[in-house]
Amino acid sequence: MEGSLRIPLSRVPDEGVDLDIEVETGELGLEEGFWPPLRGVRLTGRLERTGPSEAVFRGRARGIFRLQCGLGLAEFDFPVDEAVVAYFMPRPSAAGTDVEDEIELGEDDLEAAYLDDETLNLGPPLRDQLGLAIPLQPKCPGMCLGESPEMCRRLEAGEGVGEEQAADPRWSVLREWRK
Ligand SMILES: [Zn+2]
Repeated sequence: MEGSLRIPLSRVPDEGVDLDIEVETGELGLEEGFWPPLRGVRLTGRLERTGPSEAVFRGRARGIFRLQCGLGLAEFDFPVDEAVVAYFMPRPSAAGTDVEDEIELGEDDLEAAYLDDETLNLGPPLRDQLGLAIPLQPKCPGMCLGESPEMCRRLEAGEGVGEEQAADPRWSVLREWRK
């Protein structure tokens, strides 16, 4: 079954259904400027009923962020592959328009969401898991975690990264003259 992240509960059979959804990044409604560029988003997993008007999704969220190294030396691809578990249940009351769309249950990979119009929306749990996977201080694989960890360490510590100046041939002439 492929398609949108909004799935009517009526299309979820009692025995459950496997999902494999290639997601348009635009469909996630990411706030521009707050999210790094993201591509290749895919949600796979299984959707099962847990009651006449309840369902649970268990699966994985994948995507590739384009991150800038925390030290500004490089841009790099950062693939993520995160577990997603989301419980969908009816909204407690029709008047609850001020209620948050999602309830955080305190665990990173566990989320509850309300059904609207008997339709479950996998977008918010997917977006939340992808967001949690973004490192606060990205380290580029090429330099910081690769060929130049020492240079990245010195940059981070605010130390110089150039060669020592004593070797500059322009000053050796001046030093000779001073003698
Ligand atoms: Zn770096």
